[in-house]
Amino acid sequence: MEPSVSETVVAALYAPTGGIVCPFGLTIALAENACDNGTDFLFETEIETINKTDSGYDLISSDKIIHATYVVNAAGVYSDQIHNMVSESKLHIIPRKGDYCLLDKEAGNLVSHTIFQLPGKMGKGVLVTPTVHGNLLTGPTAINVTDKEETSTTAQELADIMEKATWGVNNIPFRQVITSFSGLRAHEEGDDFVVGEVKDADGFFDAAGMESPGLSSAPAVGVYLAEQIALKANAKKKENFIETRIGIINPQKLSLEERGELIKKDPRYGTIICRCEGISEGEIADAVTRTLGAVSVDGVKRRVRAGMGRCQSGFCIPKTMEILARETGRNMEDICKNRSGSNLLTGKRQGGE
Ligand SMILES: Cc1cc2nc3c(=O)[nH]c(=O)nc-3n(C[C@H](O)[C@H](O)[C@H](O)COP(=O)(O)OP(=O)(O)OC[C@H]3O[C@@H](n4cnc5c(N)ncnc54)[C@H](O)[C@@H]3O)c2cc1C
Repeated sequence: MEPSVSETVVAALYAPTGGIVCPFGLTIALAENACDNGTDFLFETEIETINKTDSGYDLISSDKIIHATYVVNAAGVYSDQIHNMVSESKLHIIPRKGDYCLLDKEAGNLVSHTIFQLPGKMGKGVLVTPTVHGNLLTGPTAINVTDKEETSTTAQELADIMEKATWGVNNIPFRQVITSFSGLRAHEEGDDFVVGEVKDADGFFDAAGMESPGLSSAPAVGVYLAEQIALKANAKKKENFIETRIGIINPQKLSLEERGELIKKDPRYGTIICRCEGISEGEIADAVTRTLGAVSVDGVKRRVRAGMGRCQSGFCIPKTMEILARETGRNMEDICKNRSGSNLLTGKRQGGE
């Protein structure tokens, strides 16, 4: 099944039901569907304080107070801080950093399943896996850190990935790494997910300590919490619930004839913006103008992969920014990489251009 597995490997556990998803695609699709069904999203709204009231909780940010009868705390590495605002039974989340190396699509066929090492005390161990888009991914490391925003990668950790990945798989072409990145797992001291209503906080529910495999578990955790809240609130299933979400058209999955028809209807699908991934202006415009549309360069990247390829957006970023500015009616200077404050342009050149 896997000719590249190292000859030093003596046995493996085959898990045929294991799967690989695009974490961005999964999360964004669910969010769009929630929005279509009436969920309000308040972005860039950090909850700084929570006060218990007679009828629930006041969630207080720098510029608003949101009253909620029921609260679900799904604040990732900050879920201990949010929990501790309402409960005497304290949680302690340790951020556990994991670095990854992403390799070019040319290396994507090296393995066809996710090849794990044996798990260790700190987690599942370093894996080598194809991604749903055909790249090869290796990592992650597992190192406890103190800073909840510490997502830098280090040469030492990347070297560690390269060493451990080769224990299980031969000839990984590390010269084809196109990017590296890291994320923080929300490791709770009790070493488990903390899911359910908080004992001394009526109507306040935790989905805390959601470290790996938190993404795989999220649909089940969501259903479990929704059932508990519905029971308490005597809530019924929404009438006219919209069960499906229409995704962004991917011209690469169409036949040549279908693609031709699409371009005739909307010529923007004939203009390629991201040359590495072959992403058209039509796809980017759809990503920006649809439900919960992208407002930043990373928002576009995570919806349609413009900038995800070999050049890591070196060529397409100005064009993507132009489309974002045009479709959202903003100035180029206001376009951010991701969160507010990450503006990509700082001003005009001499001469006003
Ligand atoms: C290296 C690594 C490898 C992983 N591998 C896997 C894997 O193979 N399989 C798997 O299933 N899972 C894996 N995971 C775990 C998975 O990524 C997480 O479980 C999942 O992303 C957690 O989702 P979440 O919604 O609970 O938290 P997050 O995605 O962290 O979201 C928390 C949200 O809360 C917001 N927030 C925080 N504080 C506040 C506040 N005060 N006010 C308002 N908003 C706030 C944040 O901005 C953020 O949007 C991995 C994680 C890492 C880091």
